[in-house]
Amino acid sequence: MGSNAPDPLSQVEFSNVVGGRPRGAAESHRVVDPRTEADLWEAPTASARDLDDAVEAGRAAFRTWGRSTPAERAAVLNAVAGVLYDNEDLLAGILMRETGKSRIMAQMEVKRAAFHYEYYATVQLEDEIQYEDDDLQIVGTHEPYGVIGAISPWNFPLILSSVKVASALATGNCVIIKPSPFTPYAILKFCELAQPVLPAGVFQALNGGADVGERLTRHPGVAHISFTGTIAVGQRIMAACAGTLKKVILELAGNDAAVVTDDVDLGVVVPKVALGCLLHAGQMCVASKRVYVHASRYDDFLARFRAHLAETYAATYDDADAPSVFGPLSNRPNFERCRGFVEDCRDKGYEVITVGEEQEGKKGFWIPPTIVANPPEDSLVVREEQFGPVVPIMKWEDEEDVIARANLDNAGLGASVWCRDAVRARKLARQLETGTVFINQPPQPHHAGYFAGQKLSGVGGELGKQGLLSYCQTKSLHIAKR
Ligand code: NAD
Repeated sequence: MGSNAPDPLSQVEFSNVVGGRPRGAAESHRVVDPRTEADLWEAPTASARDLDDAVEAGRAAFRTWGRSTPAERAAVLNAVAGVLYDNEDLLAGILMRETGKSRIMAQMEVKRAAFHYEYYATVQLEDEIQYEDDDLQIVGTHEPYGVIGAISPWNFPLILSSVKVASALATGNCVIIKPSPFTPYAILKFCELAQPVLPAGVFQALNGGADVGERLTRHPGVAHISFTGTIAVGQRIMAACAGTLKKVILELAGNDAAVVTDDVDLGVVVPKVALGCLLHAGQMCVASKRVYVHASRYDDFLARFRAHLAETYAATYDDADAPSVFGPLSNRPNFERCRGFVEDCRDKGYEVITVGEEQEGKKGFWIPPTIVANPPEDSLVVREEQFGPVVPIMKWEDEEDVIARANLDNAGLGASVWCRDAVRARKLARQLETGTVFINQPPQPHHAGYFAGQKLSGVGGELGKQGLLSYCQTKSLHIAKR
């Protein structure tokens, strides 16, 4: 595209989606592009009336959709995936602007989102015989709830929303998605584009902030809330859901540890650990937020890690078309939060290694890859999830000690173990109190692997066949045989 060509995205408009139709709003807000701080499009804010109408439309649609067959739902899921593939360029372009992701990251996100619909077109929950004797058969059958309220965060807006929407649709639920107000655009556009392939009211979208989210959690017509976000908001949501005894899935934050043992090949492991720390500038729920390296390899690891960051993450991070998985922080609050961690480390006199240039005065929410060498265990940067490109790297000597340090209450989501000895690696993994442990691979949820947080990192879970159970209530049929 020449520099004078009109931006094809400049004319795009965004609406909420209620009862199969786009709906405008009296109130709106604008997000800024995290790379440039330029204003993006008007984003409609949903009113209380919009929510009431969406719930009513969802409940009406559920009467038919809730009784659809798995084959009918699979056809719709595949058609929804097709909508994403057909609109990959548009949606990736929107995602780049609202999240600050590079083009390859945004394209990957659209494809991964599509893949979740395709995957759940192939997976279904069958009835199970729970008990049987000469007189009685007990059959467990999995039924949808009705209207599910799905509340998603800003870091992978299309993928994380799609996990919820695909799971809801696959199980015969209707779903209202409320995206983060920091990244409303791609989801609103996707929901609008998907309407022709869905019955009206089955998949709706309402943008807004905490107030819209809270109304959703308190609405008596919503049966279930599926939330992904911070621990603090998850706690608020659980309390709000108590009033109507809504079921909840809470996929929350994780202060994930990576444990590197003394037997590893650092040439192989360092780039993979770095990817686990810095994909999307560390803004990933299962990113490694704390790296524990065996003391005998610590100095070598640190030197190699620093060199790798300089080579791979610092050089290209400013160019959205470079094949980089690194970028700016996605919004000002997270940018300020992360800078707070770095300032705290400097104030306390810890060794802060900035890889690449500090971009003082530059527009956009940039923090260069930053290492904090061996900060104390009770430091802020170790105790709290940074959710950014600030990586504390600590030493350990004793296995029991490193496991105890890894097992913080806010670290129940994921962890990784880097260890050549397979038996030792599995033994370490089993001692980590997290929903998922990645062994010798960078952390990344897998569509077929159940994904859930332990301790403060969540309630219930998603993904894989087991994840569908979180979207269903199991009814037991006791059938007399004679
Ligand atoms: P957040 O908790 O601030 O917001 C998440 C969503 O909740 C947004 O849509 C927001 O508008 C909404 N919300 C805020 N207050 C609400 C309320 N009182 N009632 C209802 N809804 C409300 O989280 P965030 O900053 O958007 O996301 C980043 C966090 O998400 C990180 O901590 C990250 O670790 C976590 N995360 C977890 C997973 C996982 O699968 N466990 C995945 C991605 C991100």
